Amino acid sequence: MVAKVKHMQAAQVSPQLIEKYGLAGPRYTSYPSALHFADDFQETQFLQDLKSQQEPISVYIHLPFCRTMCWFCGCNKIVTRKQDKADRYLDYLAKEMLLWRAQLTDVKVGQVHFGGGTPNFFNVQQIDRLNALLRCYLPLTPEVQISVELSPDVLTEDQVWAFSRLGAKRASIGIQDTSPMVQEAVNRPQPMHCNVDAVRWLRAAGFTSINVDLIYGLPHQDRASFRQTIQDVLALEPDRFALFNYAHVPWLKPTQKVFASDIFPNPMDKLEIFQDSRETLEAAGYTFIGLDHFAQHDDELAKAWNNGKLQRDFQGYSVTESAAILGIGLSSVSQSPKAYRQNFKQLEDYEAALDAGQLPLAKGLALTEDDGIRRTVINRLMCQLKLDFANLSDELGIDFADYFKTSLVDMQELVTDGFVAMTDTGLVVTKMGRFFLRNIAMQFDAYRERQVGRCSQTL
Ligand code: SF4
Repeated sequence: MVAKVKHMQAAQVSPQLIEKYGLAGPRYTSYPSALHFADDFQETQFLQDLKSQQEPISVYIHLPFCRTMCWFCGCNKIVTRKQDKADRYLDYLAKEMLLWRAQLTDVKVGQVHFGGGTPNFFNVQQIDRLNALLRCYLPLTPEVQISVELSPDVLTEDQVWAFSRLGAKRASIGIQDTSPMVQEAVNRPQPMHCNVDAVRWLRAAGFTSINVDLIYGLPHQDRASFRQTIQDVLALEPDRFALFNYAHVPWLKPTQKVFASDIFPNPMDKLEIFQDSRETLEAAGYTFIGLDHFAQHDDELAKAWNNGKLQRDFQGYSVTESAAILGIGLSSVSQSPKAYRQNFKQLEDYEAALDAGQLPLAKGLALTEDDGIRRTVINRLMCQLKLDFANLSDELGIDFADYFKTSLVDMQELVTDGFVAMTDTGLVVTKMGRFFLRNIAMQFDAYRERQVGRCSQTL
């Protein structure tokens, strides 16, 4: 049985292994990755999938505005100080929700997530209007779960209460790094008192889950500075941490060109920063989940991880069991069992489509049967760190060992390097292999040759 394959103990990763596996590769928040979405996509399949959902779906709503630009940022955002842009954006969100409502006659919405950009760019009146739109246009279940991403540096207590009125009970706050030197280098000044206030206000307003986003691999970080960041954030007692590997893709995100190449920690430093953080968080009672998340033992995410119910989608790891996620707003991505679709990224294109009474579809991808099989396998690996070949054969209607014979031959090299333990019946990612999880998943990726030079480094 796969479960009986013994995990290897963590070992020192050699510079040779770092060099060998320091490749460009997707984060596998989707498969195939968004790089393969095409302009000529027809959304008939997606709409059919959406309408046929028996269980409540999830909705993602993108709120793209930010007051300032963080140089490292890879999100789709619009940097502006003009507050009235949010009013106009809400007008267009209303138009889009109205169009989707016509598609959701027999479908309910069980989860809503507001992401950005900076959702708390919106002022209290604008958040209240968002609340009204949500309840007017989307068929929410009575027990709908609502979550929001917040940026503590521009957050006010009144905004927290406005999101609470909207029904949000979960918040994810972006801290990234508490070192003033790092913050200055990335143009994100955020004194610690902003983070302390944010958490205090959220708890007082009844938020039951607070996640903190951190990024390792940023300019000027080293082991000592990031240890301090972890200690600073632990003092806030968040329920969850996401510890993201900085994605340096200046050919896609030109603001990253501001960074000199010699101010980044090297891949070995990054590995040590991650291992230090992991040890500290585990010692503090957090469970290490998947690639880069940590949660307190009694948190839903930790329970889903322990029960094999963890999910992965465009927002990272989640407990959502929705087979369909509907993305609303600029650049939002939707996913269904057989397709992905993405809205326009440029505001003028997004508005023009809605002015013409059309859904603002920019591109997408209809999954082939092979895409669907590989998506299941890669998702299982990212969420459970193991594959049971017999179970997957039954579930997918294939002979796993035969279907993936080339992948399994290639996998032998990762077995030799200590990242994977494999038998005839399955494979398990080792403790050391977790740092190379994206590399392991790449063995099942039919598009990997075409992604070279287009993704961030895995290490
Ligand atoms: S606040 Fe967030 S979305 Fe906005 S620029 Fe900074 S990292 Fe990007």
